[in-house]
Amino acid sequence: MKPRDKHAPKDAETPAPACASCHVAQAKRACRSPEGLAGKDCPTEHQAAVLAAANAEYADPALAEFARQASLQEAACYANRHERPYVMQPCKTRIQEICEFARRLGYRRLGLAFCAGLVREAAAVEEIFEQHGFEVVSVLCKAGATPKEDLGLGDEDKIYQGSFEAMCNPVFQAKLLDAQGSQFNVLLGLCVGHDSMFFKYSQAPTTVLAVKDRVTGHNPLAAVYLSDVYYQKLKKPPPA
Ligand code: SF4
Repeated sequence: MKPRDKHAPKDAETPAPACASCHVAQAKRACRSPEGLAGKDCPTEHQAAVLAAANAEYADPALAEFARQASLQEAACYANRHERPYVMQPCKTRIQEICEFARRLGYRRLGLAFCAGLVREAAAVEEIFEQHGFEVVSVLCKAGATPKEDLGLGDEDKIYQGSFEAMCNPVFQAKLLDAQGSQFNVLLGLCVGHDSMFFKYSQAPTTVLAVKDRVTGHNPLAAVYLSDVYYQKLKKPPPA
């Protein structure tokens, strides 16, 4: 995969968006209401051409229906939406959300691409999906036992040095799930980069049940939440 060229010429009239550092209060933002205020370099204000191109994609009936169902599912994850004033009442876990969304789309056969470090979780997820009436095809990241040497790696690049080590093979996972007729793929704990490859190669739409974080029990936001105190080293990386 080619990395994005950050030195590529940019249109001076269209500043790069920086929504992550927007200082407008959430409820008053331009992206939340037509009367809202634009943040600095606001894409709602400055990116009309890209927005028009993006929105034109919804002319595809399949995409439009997928998006409609995703939006319906989003709303269905909150209870008592008729109440006024409404205070958010989230009521569904991610795995419930996945089951409901898959049912909405009429999917019967789910693909589960999981990490070797989450075999117990994969078995539990498979059982839950099956209890919800889905067929499940599942593939572990090391399936195929392709040696890491095929990537040009040496023994010093392995976790368990001095022994055979299979590479994670997300391309195999994606192709196999496609070949097996998976209609909707669910990722469970794939590594950073391996997940990117899966997204690139999967023909079926893919969602993520959980991402891997080896240190926090697969809760990467734990480090982010603590980044002003116990994990402040994240904001003060050593010189490159
Ligand atoms: S779209 Fe505009 S208003 Fe919304 S977060 Fe981004 S900069 Fe702020």
